[in-house]
Amino acid sequence: MPAHLRMEQRFIALRYLGLFSLAPTLPLLNLTSGRLAAAYALLCFTALYNMTIQFLLRRRSTWLNNGYFTTIGDGILNIAMVIIGGGFGSPFYFILFTTSIAAAMRYGYGPTLLVVGIYVMLDALSSRLFSTGNASATADLFFRSGFLVITALLAGYLREQARAAEAALAQELARAGALNESSRAVSASLQLSTVARTVAVEARRLAGAECALLRLGPHASADVTYDGVEAQDCSSDQADDQQAILNALLHEAIADSAPVVEQGTTDDHRPFMLVPLQTRSALLGYVGVLRAAHQPPFQPHDTALLTSFIERARLALENASLYKTIGDRSQDLQRAYADLAAAHQELLGVDEMKTNFIANVSHELRTPLTSIRSFSELLLSYEVDKPTEREFLGIINTESERLTRLINDVLDITKIEAGQVDWRIEPHNLADLLQTSARSFAQIIADHQLAFICEAPPPDIKVLADRDRILQVLANLLGNAVKFTTQGQIKLDAAIVGESATIRVSDTGIGIAPADHERIFEKFHQVGDTLTDKPKGTGLGLCICRDIVHQHGGRLWVESGIGQGSTFIFTLPLHVAPAA
Ligand code: ADP
Repeated sequence: MPAHLRMEQRFIALRYLGLFSLAPTLPLLNLTSGRLAAAYALLCFTALYNMTIQFLLRRRSTWLNNGYFTTIGDGILNIAMVIIGGGFGSPFYFILFTTSIAAAMRYGYGPTLLVVGIYVMLDALSSRLFSTGNASATADLFFRSGFLVITALLAGYLREQARAAEAALAQELARAGALNESSRAVSASLQLSTVARTVAVEARRLAGAECALLRLGPHASADVTYDGVEAQDCSSDQADDQQAILNALLHEAIADSAPVVEQGTTDDHRPFMLVPLQTRSALLGYVGVLRAAHQPPFQPHDTALLTSFIERARLALENASLYKTIGDRSQDLQRAYADLAAAHQELLGVDEMKTNFIANVSHELRTPLTSIRSFSELLLSYEVDKPTEREFLGIINTESERLTRLINDVLDITKIEAGQVDWRIEPHNLADLLQTSARSFAQIIADHQLAFICEAPPPDIKVLADRDRILQVLANLLGNAVKFTTQGQIKLDAAIVGESATIRVSDTGIGIAPADHERIFEKFHQVGDTLTDKPKGTGLGLCICRDIVHQHGGRLWVESGIGQGSTFIFTLPLHVAPAA
């Protein structure tokens, strides 16, 4: 129900109260029978009037909105009752106090004094008309009129006070409502950037400012980091200017050691306020708000409102930051888990490779051992002629050599892969390395009726190499070239490409299908008819070569095709002599 209607309802109740308290007392007031009858008639009329008002309030409340109708009605009825009761000097005069107070409650000082003025005027008129004009009657008039005026003033004053208190309460409620709304807005998200932006928007709204700027850091609390988060919300087209001013103010405030609320006006008369965002132990940042030059300076209630909001905003920012930290950590955890899973897979792969390697080694060892055992048993169990005996011993010898080679290769590869080889990588003359290798193979190549070309590079070129290991690689490649070439030539040469030396061993042998170019570098991988080729190698040579070249920081690969011969190429880093 609107406030004025509530008041009208109370007045209705008051009227009834007046009627019921007046009616039984009337006979006791020594009124003449005529006046008594008139008084009761007026009471009846007043009751009717009150009922009409009650009815109209329910039906046509707009008529009575401003209360003028009832104020005038009450006034007339009261004056009538005063006149019936014996005039302004009679006890009925007190009735006028009720309407004066009622007018004060409705309209404040002005209208009340007007009503009181009318009463006093009527009183004065009636005194002149009916009294003899003696001094005591005049004093009576002043006395009661004075009290009536004081009562009206007091009632008016109380009404003003009540209205001021009501307005203050309404303002406080509005602020509390705005604060709640802003707090709800900042708590609506857990995204740090969104929360920061909302804090700026709401701070500007609550402070009634033109621009708000939030800056977090450089400090951060123990658990959360803010990474220099910044957000702003500015209204006018001078947003850049306003931001620059606030930036400068915040910069100064952050440089200051004591984080306190700062207020003032800029050189161009704009009111500003800076509020720190702090926990018990750390200063997280600042929020600054800036008003336009024509706006009023910040008042204590603005400060109280903004600081309460910033306190809530800090919690929301901390929550968002913690959420981000937890998100980051869970991502780290997921990454670590993925790494772990990959490492586990790798380990499984390594384990499988180890099992395969052991199986292959056992298999490779068993073949020559079986031959050696069978032929030595034959020799021991049967009398055989000399040529057969020599043939068997020859086989036993070849198989023993193969066994020795295999064991050496297995040891080699195991040591390299376990990192147990003591690498002595030093500068070596490349031509010297090639020639040393060529010298030890010249005879073997000649024995196989093959031509041999060694094109040594210029003598001043040096490579970084472990001499013995690189000679081992060259021996292996030249050995393979001899093994897989029946006619034609074998060539050894080198070239400089960029910062590496490229060494090539080419032959005109059987060649290797492109599909096998990578596979021949795997352990125990041999191409072709492995049964007939078996005694010739272990299938570990190229794998060892590649491991050795990799240890030097180089690469080893093959270029070949079936029936087109093969070229094995590897690179070694050049040694660059330090400038003198
Ligand atoms: P092996 O000791 O059996 O020669 P390698 O690892 O040295 O073992 O060689 C692996 C396989 O690569 C050989 O069995 C052969 O099939 C192929 N291969 C290596 N070098 C040559 C070459 N020069 N010409 C043709 N095939 C070759």
